[in-house]
Amino acid sequence: MSSALTGAMEDNGNRKFVHMVEVFEPEAGMPIDGLTIKNLIPGGGIMKVVVIGAGMGGLALAQALSRRGIEVVVHERDRAVEATGGYRLHLDHLACAALRRHLAPQHYQALLASSAGRRAFTRFAVADHRMRLLFAEPQDLTVETLMIGRVTLRRLLAHGLGDSLRLGSEFTGHETHPDGTVTAHFADGGTERGDLLVGADGVGSRVAQALAGRPTSSLAGVSGIAGRTPLTAGTRPLVPALLTPGPALAFGPGGVGLFLTVHDPESGTAADPASCTEVAAIIEPPSLVWGVLAPDAAYPGRPRELDAAALIELTGALLRGWCPDVRALVDAADPGSVAFFGFHAADPDADLTPWPGGAVTALGDAVHAMPPTGGMAAATAIRDADLLAEELALVQDGQCTIPSAVHRYQQRMAAYAGEAVRTSIQPLRWIERLATPTGTRAARIALPAFAAAAQLGRVFTRSRDV
Ligand SMILES: Cc1cc2nc3c(=O)[nH]c(=O)nc-3n(C[C@H](O)[C@H](O)[C@H](O)COP(=O)(O)OP(=O)(O)OC[C@H]3O[C@@H](n4cnc5c(N)ncnc54)[C@H](O)[C@@H]3O)c2cc1C
Repeated sequence: MSSALTGAMEDNGNRKFVHMVEVFEPEAGMPIDGLTIKNLIPGGGIMKVVVIGAGMGGLALAQALSRRGIEVVVHERDRAVEATGGYRLHLDHLACAALRRHLAPQHYQALLASSAGRRAFTRFAVADHRMRLLFAEPQDLTVETLMIGRVTLRRLLAHGLGDSLRLGSEFTGHETHPDGTVTAHFADGGTERGDLLVGADGVGSRVAQALAGRPTSSLAGVSGIAGRTPLTAGTRPLVPALLTPGPALAFGPGGVGLFLTVHDPESGTAADPASCTEVAAIIEPPSLVWGVLAPDAAYPGRPRELDAAALIELTGALLRGWCPDVRALVDAADPGSVAFFGFHAADPDADLTPWPGGAVTALGDAVHAMPPTGGMAAATAIRDADLLAEELALVQDGQCTIPSAVHRYQQRMAAYAGEAVRTSIQPLRWIERLATPTGTRAARIALPAFAAAAQLGRVFTRSRDV
């Protein structure tokens, strides 16, 4: 078989190219010395994708490509998959469907068994600062969604990638070559050459910035302090009843918002952990995830430099006048989990990918950064990965070139990504409005009145039901 290949394998840097001769016309799927013809791209090479960033989008792409037999290498600056922050992520039905498609059934089963069950999110509530319900949006329980810890999801998405995942490898820049390939450079002096470079390097992406010639997102004007409070016999009774059916976003005077959600997979997962025989489920201990949001001007000094104790104290000051139980829950946070976040957002009305389809592209927060207030960032990054993998499958099958696949991916992504950013920044605009003197005065009057009206509405609804 190899006699039909001219020069068989040419070692070019750290990748190998296969050159075909006309006399050899293998059929799709035919093995060639351990490779299959499906791995060959038009022009005669093995398609190799270099991904920068092992976040949710980069790992989902790596899983999708390796399952299709496309060579992929992911470079991540973190030294360990667990060496990251984050609380809980929400994956909508599109992200779930994508992961179902791209992970082996046993692998997806582990994701389900590590995620809080559907009972944990039957509605999304909006409340006032006394934890009185203002309104609630029921969730569609017929579609699949997952609520899963960020570190847990990252660990599970990294499962099985083996040597394809290069940790402790910080991308510094790239160069494209006349033959259409691209070389990525790393802080340790190493390089990696491939047919496509994908920046999945999140907010502040170096890859996307190099492509766009400018940063692809900016500070959104609202920042947050988030943390996790372990749920124990002492703290559980303090959790507002309002949170039993799902997360809540509460607004108070002065333009302060607070996101709250109970994350308790132990009390019910989306699948039985005992059914995970090949890939083990990861069950996180129960906690209350909280995140206070306020306009940048509300944070004194340099909040980024504060330690956990000071951040908890600052959160307490921002929540002055709020429900005492909630304040006590914040005080009981695990100090190791408390962090300050300056939210970034892309301009949803701008061209999100102002570069032509070619050997370099980007996905997820690198392109369309959005604050966590929409619960959509991880799901959108996974949706991008799904779309890009689908387009690259056409390249693999010999139906199109990499630049045209990238062009189509970028166009299709633009159809939903701007809208996701717009939805996610909406709560930040409410916070900014509430922070103005008029907003604060209006909130003092309107929020309790709104809560009372909602209460009355529930009484009437209940009496009609009887
Ligand atoms: C620490 C952290 C905590 C978060 N917590 C939450 C949360 O609790 N809830 C929520 O809704 N969203 C959270 N997010 C945001 C959420 O994870 C992302 O919005 C979403 O997952 C989009 O995924 P992504 O793959 O585009 O980016 P990310 O998941 O942010 O992944 C980007 C990856 O690229 C790596 N990277 C960056 N630069 C380089 C480089 N030069 N070289 C190599 N690697 C690089 C980063 O280390 C990171 O692993 C968090 C993000 C981070 C970084």
